[in-house]
Amino acid sequence: MKDQSTSSSHRGVEETEDIRIARILTWLSLMAILFLAGIGAKAWLFGHVGHAFVLWAFAIPLTLNMLWFAHTGNRTMQKGGLIATVGVLFAYLIASGGENNTGPLWFYVFPPLLFYLTSLRTGTAILLFCYLIAAAVFLFPDLPLVSTEYTLDFKIRFFATLTFESIFCFVLEASRLKARNELMTLARTHEHAARTDELTGLANRREMQHRLDTEFSRYQRSGHHFSIALIDLDLFKSINDEYGHHAGDEVLKTFSELTRRIIRQSDIAARWGGEEFLLLLPDTSLLQALSLAERLRAEVSNHAFLFRGQRLPISISAGVCSIAKAGSVDALLKQADVHLYAAKEAGRNQVAPRVRMGGRDDANSSPT
Ligand code: GH3
Ligand code: MG
Ligand code: MG
Repeated sequence: MKDQSTSSSHRGVEETEDIRIARILTWLSLMAILFLAGIGAKAWLFGHVGHAFVLWAFAIPLTLNMLWFAHTGNRTMQKGGLIATVGVLFAYLIASGGENNTGPLWFYVFPPLLFYLTSLRTGTAILLFCYLIAAAVFLFPDLPLVSTEYTLDFKIRFFATLTFESIFCFVLEASRLKARNELMTLARTHEHAARTDELTGLANRREMQHRLDTEFSRYQRSGHHFSIALIDLDLFKSINDEYGHHAGDEVLKTFSELTRRIIRQSDIAARWGGEEFLLLLPDTSLLQALSLAERLRAEVSNHAFLFRGQRLPISISAGVCSIAKAGSVDALLKQADVHLYAAKEAGRNQVAPRVRMGGRDDANSSPT
C-alpha cells in the first residue's frame, strides 16, 4: 500500500508545531519590545540616558523582524532574526553591565528559549559561543565595548548557575523531544495499522472506502474518470478445505504480492473482505481497467501457487466498472459486484463485462 497519506499527515503535525512556535515568537517579540520600552524608560528616568537609547534601539530590529515575518511568513528567518537580536542584546547587557551590573541576569532567559527554538546541537553551539563572549568580557575588561567590571564572586556564580541552568534545559528538552518522537512513532504505527490489512499488507476496507470517496469527489470536481475492479478468488473454500486454512492464507498473501506488482503507483489495492479484493484505478477507462484485470487474471492463472510441493488450483474472477457508468460510489460497487457475479456464473477464471471491439478487447479506444 502506498504510504503517502501517513507521511503527509506527519508533515502536518510538524507544520502545526511550527505555526504554534511562530505564534509564540510573535508574542515573545511583543513582550520583549514592551520590556525594552519600560526598562529603557526607567533607565532614562534614572539618568542612564545612553543605556535607555540603546535599549529602545533594540526594539527596532525586533519590530522589523516581526514585520518581515508578517510580510514573508518565513518562520526560519523569524527564529533566526529573534535569536540574533536577543543574542546581541544579551552581549551588550553583559559588556555594559546594564544598570548597576544587573544586565547579565537577563542571560538566564536565553538557554530555554534557545533549546525550544533550535535543535539541541544548534542551541548548544550558540550557547557555547555566548559563553565565550561572556568569558571574554569577564576576563578582559579592557576590551573595546566593554564598559564594566564584575566581582570575582559574581563571575563564578554567574557561570556556575548558568551552566547548571543550561544543562537542565538541555536535559529537559532532550527528554521532551524523545517523548515527542516516541509518541509520533506510536501514532504512525497505529495510523498505519488502522488503514492496513494485517494478513496481506494491502489497504483495508475502511481505507479503500475513504479512497473511493476521495476519488469520487475528484471526479465530481474535475471530471477525472476512474474505474474499479472487484476481484474474488475462485472456489477458495475448497482450497481451505483441501489444503488447510494456512495454505489459504499463503495464497492470499501471494495473490496480494502479484497484484502489487501489476498495478501502477497511483492505483490502490485493498482487501475488501475475506478472499475479495478491490482495485481502485484512477484516471483509467473501463477498457483500460478491463485490460489490467485481464492481465492480473492471466498472471494468477499462470502463477504456480505452491503449498508443500503441490501446485494449488488458483484463479480469480473480476467484475470491472467505470464511474462513467455509475452515478455514485455505491452504484459503482453494486455494478462491479453484478459483473463479478456474471463472471462467476459464466464459469469463473474470467473478467466481466466482456467488451469486444472488432473482435478483440481494445484498451485504448474509449475514454470511459
Ligand atoms: P466462489 O468461486 O463462488 O467465490 O467460491 P468460494 O469458495 O471462493 O466462495 P465462498 O464465499 O463460499 O468462500 C469463501 C471462502 O474464503 C470461505 C472462507 O473460509 C475463505 N476465507 C475468507 N477469508 C479468509 C482468510 O483470511 N484466510 C483463509 N485461509 N480463508 C479465508
Ligand atoms: Mg471466492
Ligand atoms: Mg467471496
